[in-house]
Amino acid sequence: MDQKTEGSATGAISGEALKPCPFCGSGAEITRDDPAPIFCWVQCKGCKANTGFFDGPEEAEAVAAWNRRSDERTEFAEIIVRLKQRGLIPETFDAATLEVAHA
Ligand SMILES: [Zn+2]
Repeated sequence: MDQKTEGSATGAISGEALKPCPFCGSGAEITRDDPAPIFCWVQCKGCKANTGFFDGPEEAEAVAAWNRRSDERTEFAEIIVRLKQRGLIPETFDAATLEVAHA
């Protein structure tokens, strides 16, 4: 039989660690509704960016979604820097808002 041993729902996250916030670089934390978890989500401790709700108290999906976005955001930021270096987009382009800042 392949029975999973479920650990405590609280405390340290086993497995994948949460990456820093892709928007502000702050730490993030996993959160559940209480006392009977129906949803969980990952939220930035700084700017409060979050993954939205994931069904169930199991955090693996929410953590994966958070980290995936962090990776995508990092990749995106690198592309923006290269486009600026080549003069293809203005220096004042803000990757967070997708707006060109006007002084
Ligand atoms: Zn943040």
